[in-house]
Amino acid sequence: MGVAIVLRYQGVIVPVRVASGSMAEQLLGPHRLVTCAECGFAFRCGIDADSPLQMATCPNCGFERNDLSSLMLRDGDRVVIDRWAYFRHLPQRGDVVAFVDPTNQAQLAVKRVMGLPGEVVAIRRGELFVDGQLHRKSLEETKKLATLVYDDAFRLGDASRLPPRWQGEDAATDWRPTNEGYRCTPAISATTTSDWLMYRHWRCYTSPNSRTEESPITDNYAYNQGLSRELHEVTDLLLSCELTVAEDGEAAFLIHDGWASFMMLLSAKTRSVALSRGEDLLDRVVIPNYIDLQRVTIELGAIDDQILVAVSGETLIRHEYLPLAVPLQPTSRPLGIAARRGDCSVSNVRVYRDIHHLNPIRGDWAWTGRTRLGVEEFLVLGDNSPLSNDSRHWPEPELHRELVIGKVLMPRR
Ligand SMILES: [Zn+2]
Repeated sequence: MGVAIVLRYQGVIVPVRVASGSMAEQLLGPHRLVTCAECGFAFRCGIDADSPLQMATCPNCGFERNDLSSLMLRDGDRVVIDRWAYFRHLPQRGDVVAFVDPTNQAQLAVKRVMGLPGEVVAIRRGELFVDGQLHRKSLEETKKLATLVYDDAFRLGDASRLPPRWQGEDAATDWRPTNEGYRCTPAISATTTSDWLMYRHWRCYTSPNSRTEESPITDNYAYNQGLSRELHEVTDLLLSCELTVAEDGEAAFLIHDGWASFMMLLSAKTRSVALSRGEDLLDRVVIPNYIDLQRVTIELGAIDDQILVAVSGETLIRHEYLPLAVPLQPTSRPLGIAARRGDCSVSNVRVYRDIHHLNPIRGDWAWTGRTRLGVEEFLVLGDNSPLSNDSRHWPEPELHRELVIGKVLMPRR
């Protein structure tokens, strides 16, 4: 079940069509485009793991009865392969490459490069380890691999049918829904207390229980509707939103990494962002003058044992830490937003999760050929980890450079 594509690769730029979903959601094989009958969120279901019931569960609201049978089957993505890309340079980590499938040389396949020549690569607790160290992704790398978990633009207007996923933690909250998001006008007495607008996660996959039952975020893929497998809790999350604060206002953001809560405070008054855990101030950075604080894009991630804070696309804080030596305790309410001073409103609120690499065998997976990848060898993995047939499954995991056809130019979505 690789991404088999049409075998015609003469020329410099070669157009091909993706034939399976091992790189979903970045590259799609034949699929159906579903618009949720309840919340209007659009998502794509592959046919690699088609639903036997011909019903799809919406990843955004958990509605289970989206009818697939009447939907047109769409072709896989058309992509082009740049055969010149690696004429002078080697593939880089994160590149999506097309290559001759080493397990079936009559087929092309498309995967993402995750291990480079000279490295020892392993997968532990869903993460990629390179030479024994957790590979910590930048925000840009994270966004390439991230899966959208909840887009609040598609919340149901009628809260009596379905309660909102973002709600004030206390009944006496000053947060109110607006057309685009939420607004808080804190009472004067509220400047020292926290009135958190909290995200509550529901599972959003088929289950006999109520869809509004809270659950930690998992490595569910809406694309794989008919695939029956064990799901894993994912604690690497990314929150993004547009934020408007008063001229001297402050807004706080909360993120739980499965072990602890971190708080990021943005102060328009002092033009700074500060990161703390409990009473400990971990970092404080001045926001550059060229960023207009009237309305900013906030990205806050707990990714690969680090907290990432970006304001209007600029990564201002990248705080790395060591994981605690205790089991993870994921929460169903891992994210929060609070107004600390003056009016505060947020819009385009989205929650993403990081990729969770699966082991093809129980326990840790380490590349077990020779101890290191050779000078012209790579390790390649599919983004759709449960579905992808890649280095993890091959008798010899390494992909030799001479099998690489070129770099896949990714379609815009
Ligand atoms: Zn929905």
